[in-house]
Amino acid sequence: MIEQIEGINIAVEGCFHGNFDEIFGTIREIEKQKKIKIDLLLVCGDVQTHRNKHDMFNMACPIKYLSMGTFYKYYEGKEAAPCLTIFIGGNHEASNFLREMYFGGWVAPNIYYLGDSNVIQIKKGNTTFRLGGTSGIFKIFDFNNPKLEPFPFKSEQLRNVYHTKQIDLFKLSLYEGEVNMFLSHDWPQQIHQHGSTKELLKKKQNFEADIKSGRLGSQPHKFTLERLQPDFWFAAHMHVKFEALVKHKTGKQTKFLALDKCIAGRDFLQVFTYTKDKKDLYEQYAYNEEPIELFYDSEWLSIVHTTYKLLTIWDKIPKLFEYNPALKELQIMKKDKYEELLNEKRERMKIFGNHQLKIPHNFEVTTPPYDEQDNTTKSLVPPKRVPLNNQMKSYLNLFNESGQELNGLIFYEPDQPRVIGEFVAPDFLQKQIELENHKEILQQQDLKQQQLEEPSSPKDDELNIQDFPFLQ
Ligand code: 5GP
Ligand code: MN
Repeated sequence: MIEQIEGINIAVEGCFHGNFDEIFGTIREIEKQKKIKIDLLLVCGDVQTHRNKHDMFNMACPIKYLSMGTFYKYYEGKEAAPCLTIFIGGNHEASNFLREMYFGGWVAPNIYYLGDSNVIQIKKGNTTFRLGGTSGIFKIFDFNNPKLEPFPFKSEQLRNVYHTKQIDLFKLSLYEGEVNMFLSHDWPQQIHQHGSTKELLKKKQNFEADIKSGRLGSQPHKFTLERLQPDFWFAAHMHVKFEALVKHKTGKQTKFLALDKCIAGRDFLQVFTYTKDKKDLYEQYAYNEEPIELFYDSEWLSIVHTTYKLLTIWDKIPKLFEYNPALKELQIMKKDKYEELLNEKRERMKIFGNHQLKIPHNFEVTTPPYDEQDNTTKSLVPPKRVPLNNQMKSYLNLFNESGQELNGLIFYEPDQPRVIGEFVAPDFLQKQIELENHKEILQQQDLKQQQLEEPSSPKDDELNIQDFPFLQ
């Protein structure tokens, strides 16, 4: 008798580049050919979820590649995703829209953005696993910068906005539980050492210099890989399929798989079945038909709650990591304070206990979708706000937080009063509004000068632990 496999049929995709119709079409084709149901599509970034022209112009990308894509049809409900789709962001995104969903949220029915970093739980029948992920790409010069890209994003800010920020890495570093799968856009640095570098170089000769200097991939991802040691890690960005097996010192192993971008004939999709016994099967599928459901992870919620106060002083946050060039490693600074935050997180986890909170299906259309009939080339008015939307409000309600302290830091609601944190310059939002009035460069220099001269708001380097009572 053939054993019935119970599990989740998963498709993983590399770079998406707005090809919703094409990739969803491929999923439907696979389902037809193999007579299976794909339960879940995992996407590793460069998704381009443009709801309309404004969003399109909030993406960093050479002009020749600027195109509407097909996301808007899914956003307005004219088309539907064939299966639950979960993605992280890359370096070509509707950055205003993803910023709005900082903590993770539905960008369309059945299409969930994991946020800047996150861990959630996925369950279908008796099969369950934890999925983590982090968005963006790493550039050392933006790592310690606050998420203060003035809005609407202009020129280089369109790029700064998706660069990894230390707080998102710090949140992941506080996670101690088991993560089964992890998504990133860029690869963990030096991951090529755990697979066939020779094969990789055959396909990508231009990687040679970076491989030699040990700089291929992202340092924070290497750090996260070593800490979380997930069973699977999926990535994209390099536009090549690459497999590796990382054997950790603890005896755990991570199967790494990078996929190509969505171009016909390229390796951009991998299908496998994750069984209830935590095995990955290829060419053997699950036929159990329970619905697939998403849950918040209680440890992650505890981390979000514990680090919320850090978010509210994002513009004044001290350095949480340092880079050791000799070891080519990132290290956590202020170890004792880190331990304290860990303990605080553990205490909060007791409050959640074993309660499983379902991620609500609370998607709402919040902005007019692209109008196909609109052929005018009238100049675009950039969006004036990054609203604190219904999904983020109800997420923050889980912690009894209104989110108002994050106005001007993550969200941008110029008309709403900002709850001023102890360490935030009172005129901060006013400065932002002035920046909007086309004086940005001059104004910015002004602000910097003021901060330098202002004794109560010392430079980053001069900040010390006394400035952060909750870190003491
Ligand atoms: P994107 O689609 O994100 O604009 O471009 C990614 C491109 O940059 C791909 O062609 C990829 O091969 C290349 N790339 C990404 N990261 C690296 C890197 O660290 N080294 C080198 N040599 N190329 C990279
Ligand atoms: Mn990319």
